[in-house]
Amino acid sequence: MQGSANGGTSPKQLLQARHLRPRKRFGQNFLTDPHVAARIAAAIPPESYVFEIGGGTGALTAALIDRVASVTAIEIDRDLCILLAERFAAAGDRLRVVSGDVLTFDIEADLRAHTAPRAIAGNLPYYITTPILERILAAADLWETAILMVQREYARRLLAQPGSADYGSLSVFAALFARAEKLFEVGAGGFYPMPEVSSTVIRLTPMHSGRDRDPGFLLWLIRAAFAHRRKTFVNSLLAALRGAEHPTRKDLESALTCNGLDPNVRAERLALADFERVADTLEAQGLMERQWTTRSTR
Ligand code: SAM
Repeated sequence: MQGSANGGTSPKQLLQARHLRPRKRFGQNFLTDPHVAARIAAAIPPESYVFEIGGGTGALTAALIDRVASVTAIEIDRDLCILLAERFAAAGDRLRVVSGDVLTFDIEADLRAHTAPRAIAGNLPYYITTPILERILAAADLWETAILMVQREYARRLLAQPGSADYGSLSVFAALFARAEKLFEVGAGGFYPMPEVSSTVIRLTPMHSGRDRDPGFLLWLIRAAFAHRRKTFVNSLLAALRGAEHPTRKDLESALTCNGLDPNVRAERLALADFERVADTLEAQGLMERQWTTRSTR
């Protein structure tokens, strides 16, 4: 099913047969080791529908088609869309290749059109890891598992615990929507062309927190708290509030102390549950609503 009419399925052979070269601007570092692709696919339940981000020359697509019920592979590079469609013609309607940009494609509508179990998979283009994560986490009620290859340092930040050097807004943001786990690491030698960085495969499992309200304020609070790493939580928030009359320093300090937290604490020491409790306190006191919505940039 996965053979090339011109012989060979390595990314280099597949590209050369079509007189193509890897495009740096699209973050193209293609997986060369089929065992890595098979390990990623093996982490997804076999009966799943999978939305694959960045099909490329099809290393992961091949492993997914071999394992799961059906796959949609989105790819921004039109030449590679043709390559994918030709390479996997025998898969019939078990594979749909979408020529498009994952940052504008309606992922939610696509997932809604399929029944569970649904999964997201991808050896991500690293230059847009954060916007991709934001999009898929915003749709976390529509899939059950995501297996993603990300840059090793990025994985460290995602998986970091409070108090560690890598802990930051990304760690808290991810924890708000999903449980993140490291599956395995892949060295730079596993790709063509060889990247300058190493990679980690992670699994995300959505967390349904039971919160029925919009997480907008909590997200604002997390971003504001981490905006100045050297400032205390209170000083970072006061900076973000840019001179608003309320809440005062005292209001913010008491929102920390009434939740058993040090009024001089820095954001890097606070776990998601701490942010949630402080956000609840400030919201219950009605001190923040007007301030954050008028100062929020997103
Ligand atoms: N999955 C393939 C593999 O493992 O060999 C390719 C991985 S490569 C790191 C990332 C792929 O994402 C490339 O094929 C690239 O063209 C594609 N890509 C980059 N930006 C994209 C975007 N905005 N939307 C969809 N695909 C994109």
